[in-house]
Amino acid sequence: MFDKILIANRGEIALRIERACKELGIATVAVHSTADAHAMHVRLADESVCIGAPPAKDSYLNIPAIVAACEITGADAVHPGYGFLAENARFAEILEEHKITFIGPSAEHVRLMGDKIKAKETAKSLGIPVVPGSDGPIKTIAEAKEIAAGIGFPIMVKASAGGGGRGMKLAMFEDELEPALSAARNEARAPFGDDTVYLEKYLGRPRHIEVQVLADGNGNAIHLGERDCSLQRRHQKLWEEAPSPALNESERVRIGEIVAVAMRKLKYRGVGTVEFLYENGEFYFIEMNTRLQVEHTVTEEITGLDLVIEQIRIAAGAPLSLRQEDVRFNGHAIEVRINAENSHTFRPSPGTITHFHPPGGLGVRVDSGAYAGYTIPPFYDSLIGKLIVHARTRNECLMRLKRALGEFVVDGIETTIPLFSALIAEPDIVDGNYDIHWLEDHLSPNT
Ligand code: ADP
Repeated sequence: MFDKILIANRGEIALRIERACKELGIATVAVHSTADAHAMHVRLADESVCIGAPPAKDSYLNIPAIVAACEITGADAVHPGYGFLAENARFAEILEEHKITFIGPSAEHVRLMGDKIKAKETAKSLGIPVVPGSDGPIKTIAEAKEIAAGIGFPIMVKASAGGGGRGMKLAMFEDELEPALSAARNEARAPFGDDTVYLEKYLGRPRHIEVQVLADGNGNAIHLGERDCSLQRRHQKLWEEAPSPALNESERVRIGEIVAVAMRKLKYRGVGTVEFLYENGEFYFIEMNTRLQVEHTVTEEITGLDLVIEQIRIAAGAPLSLRQEDVRFNGHAIEVRINAENSHTFRPSPGTITHFHPPGGLGVRVDSGAYAGYTIPPFYDSLIGKLIVHARTRNECLMRLKRALGEFVVDGIETTIPLFSALIAEPDIVDGNYDIHWLEDHLSPNT
């Protein structure tokens, strides 16, 4: 087992990883930018190293500074969390070259799944159903028109290197194809350094359903059920739940098995998420994330497993701690993302938190690095915490969520808490009857 893990991240996920390390008796090193010197993840770590200026490229994405921090502190492994360097294959390779373990999949698998075109090809070859589309990159507008005519409009133009909802453009009709192609290319070029695009059939009213996997890299893999992340704004998830209110037991077992078999064939290692759109009883692969996800917590609540501890054990060479038949799903869990944003306009609301009182009680979990007196820096994403509730049934879970949201006090800034308090009163949400467009359709047109 590792002696010391460096956590190459910030915010709630850095804290989350520190907690797992502490339970395993592993020392922790926090890294931080100058803007995060007073952050909770720095305060709770055993050691900390300042790695640069506030912009992420100078600190949380600064590979030489992070490797130097490992060498100075003697860390023998790095946990990348999510975002930043979590899906950077080159980072994983550089760490290995320095005899530091990257807590994640092989660099080869990170690279493969980071290229959405190759990821789709691989998924297809492993027996996973995919969204119909161009089997590869689009080079010319003539080619795009021909393929689009074959698939049928509307068409989604997607950047192969895209992520976080960027590099995706919808073309309703043929004359919108050319502008959509150039818009998707433009949006991907600067942030991802690659403007390769491909075409996909646009699914009208699907749900976003993703399957959590756990694998040891030696051909053993299990699935931990699905999460429903259909409540999104601008392709960003805001509310996630497990199990999905839309799936029945046989669909759950079917898609879980397809994914687990594929991961065994791939000899995948670590945690990962295979994402699908689900419409009319069919699953369509869209991408795979080769890392821990923000919403991993709902899977933890219904399985009783600590996914970060599992990741660390696997990275240290341990076999899987359980078999598929040992996985038990217990009750229902919902996570809502507490963002420092206005709950109507979604405008970021950085500033100082004057009062902070997280809810508690049975089945309530708050993963957050926020505290009274904490000033949210304007340089990073607006997620300041996650509220996760667990109960025996979905109805109980909704009642508990309502109660917990009512208890939550975050003063001094604006948050998304009022949005969720409003959502739990919506009949469609109560009934679990929503798709990926529901939230945007529901929000007033001026937002
Ligand atoms: P990213 O990597 O940017 O998150 P994804 O491929 O995971 O991109 O897609 C994010 C979201 O975009 C999905 O959850 C869904 O809401 C929407 N989306 C993606 N592909 C399609 C499609 N072919 N048809 C309709 N919606 C789509």
